[in-house]
Amino acid sequence: MADKRDYYEVLGIAKGASEDEIKKAYRSLAKKYHPDVNKAPDAADKFKEINEAYEVLSDPQKRQNYDQFGFAGVDGQGFSGFQSGGFDDFGDIFSQFFGGAMGGDPFGQRSGRRSNAPRQGDDRGMRIRVSFMEACFGTTKKISLDVDETCPDCKGSGAASPSDIETCRTCGGSGYTMHTQRTAFGMFQTQGACPDCGGTGKKIRKVCPHCAGRGYTTRTQNIDLKIPAGIESGQRLRVSGKGERGVNGGPNGDLIVQVEVMPHEQFERSGKNIFLEIPVTAVDATIGTTVNIPTIHGDVTMKIPAGTQEGTQLRLKEKGVPDARGGRNGDQYCTVRIQVEKKLSAREKELYQELQKLQGSGKGSAWEKFKKQFN
Ligand SMILES: [Zn+2]
Ligand SMILES: [Zn+2]
Repeated sequence: MADKRDYYEVLGIAKGASEDEIKKAYRSLAKKYHPDVNKAPDAADKFKEINEAYEVLSDPQKRQNYDQFGFAGVDGQGFSGFQSGGFDDFGDIFSQFFGGAMGGDPFGQRSGRRSNAPRQGDDRGMRIRVSFMEACFGTTKKISLDVDETCPDCKGSGAASPSDIETCRTCGGSGYTMHTQRTAFGMFQTQGACPDCGGTGKKIRKVCPHCAGRGYTTRTQNIDLKIPAGIESGQRLRVSGKGERGVNGGPNGDLIVQVEVMPHEQFERSGKNIFLEIPVTAVDATIGTTVNIPTIHGDVTMKIPAGTQEGTQLRLKEKGVPDARGGRNGDQYCTVRIQVEKKLSAREKELYQELQKLQGSGKGSAWEKFKKQFN
């Protein structure tokens, strides 16, 4: 823990660096100092330092903690931060470690989680956009991401050979030690990760050259993510084992992909049903006709009955979105929008005028009924 260099300094970037800049800096440094390539005596240490810095700065939550609290905010190793002092806001630090000032159970659950037992890594999330049609019928998306895998050479131990692993004498292999802490709230007995072994309970004499003692390697993987037909915006897909790496030999967490469905210019979707507005001329609405309606399944012939009113919804059964579980398709609802022509040919005008005369002379017309209400 002594003489730790600032993570931004390690990666040679500014404090406000973007995610891309962090990634770029890490990639070029990791390449330069990888022990397989760089035979300098301090290359392995440098490599480790670079990885540690990247691990923190590439994770928005960890980075925020680090920006706010320095190493104490991210190392999760008990209270080394307290000893170095310099915190003005004790309450904040307290809640940082214990999840709510004075609340929680600092001696139970949390300390248990700091032991050296294997445990699964955290899940990690990402978002993916799919087009309207892709969501309707399903698709396969290629995702490329860096996944940590247990180092094949040392099987995750980080040691060059099994005989290079010994039990930590400071904590007797338990991975944690007790500290008595004098605080604003009184004396606290707290359990923290062993400062000597960092909570692993083990000391390694000679580190594995393949992974520089990290116990894992990072590999860019291409994943074919199957998006099922009928998926809706906001739904999540789980890809097992592609999350954060496990701790102490535990399995990786999962990758959780949240799907965002892009809207369509004409079709509107609500669950499995699709809504579409269709223009119908006044003449067609009056005497009825047959039209070819676009649906996500292609054109479908639909009858517009005589006397159809503005705003009427006509249903096309099972022409909606396929059911994600293989059930019945949704429906398509066509909302009629009556169009009144503004430009008429001479002949059309003649016919309309004739119709007007006919309707006007007829007893009991709509206009006559309306006017009667005012008498
Ligand atoms: Zn290894
Ligand atoms: Zn120890």
